[in-house]
Amino acid sequence: MELLTTRRDFRDALDRARAGSRRVGLVPTMGYLHAGHRSLLAASVTANDCTALTIFVNPLQFAPGEDLDSYPRDLDGDLTQASEAGADVVFVPTTEEMYPSPVRTTVRVDVARGRMEAAARPTHFDGVATVVAKLFALAGPCRAYFGEKDYQQLAVVSQLTTDLDLPVEVVGCPIVRDADGLALSSRNAYLTPQERAVAPTLHAALVAGREAVLAGERSPARVRELMAGLVRAEPAFTLDYAEVVDATTLEEIADDGVLAGDLRLLVAARLGVPRLLDNVGVHVP
Ligand code: AMP
Repeated sequence: MELLTTRRDFRDALDRARAGSRRVGLVPTMGYLHAGHRSLLAASVTANDCTALTIFVNPLQFAPGEDLDSYPRDLDGDLTQASEAGADVVFVPTTEEMYPSPVRTTVRVDVARGRMEAAARPTHFDGVATVVAKLFALAGPCRAYFGEKDYQQLAVVSQLTTDLDLPVEVVGCPIVRDADGLALSSRNAYLTPQERAVAPTLHAALVAGREAVLAGERSPARVRELMAGLVRAEPAFTLDYAEVVDATTLEEIADDGVLAGDLRLLVAARLGVPRLLDNVGVHVP
């Protein structure tokens, strides 16, 4: 496994792989790897000949006052996991390497503008889209693996790739959970034992929402209220949103509308220090 720190070496390594007719898979992360990240690596290793993991805590996607400086880091542990998962290349640039001069070009993707994550973190997705566009430009033609855990981010990255004709196939991968349902996240490290004990409530609320839809509930308002009520019933949570949207466009379904087709239920809530995000899919035939 090659550990690379410069953009030039990263670009050269993946150009060389393609020159040798090896298919390239890319797994962008912020590090502090867990089984969710490892599932993306496994998907890439299965489908490609050369898997590149990137680890970069991207300042552009953090607003002032967010956890940029305290974001958990463990490079040695990450490298061990990457090697065991079969990664061929790991790219770990410094901030100065990624952004050598003041950033004057950013990418803005209009997905779910002003709603859900885009409402809670208004500059976040522009920062994500900008760093992903840079990583795709450096990596060149490849498949890129993203988790459904960050479902809105996956939609942003897919839209970015389509709109800018980037030579990348974006592959979405299922959410990896702990046995009690909590979606794995690097930020779960911030939870106290008491908070960790109640954290699965978020997933339980989504499952209840999905069960209601599968049992015939067709009112978006009632599904939102059901999920919101279950999260609010656990006083340690501060609910941010409980939503049901079109799974492809992330368009809101009006409260008095009728649920149909491929849907995504999404919740976000603060629990102690971290905001936890989770989502599930449901199909109404
Ligand atoms: P992060 O390091 O948090 O930026 O995440 C890097 C990638 O891993 C993103 O595409 C995430 O959606 C994905 N990811 C994070 N947690 C999970 C999980 N529990 N299951 C599947 N993918 C995940």
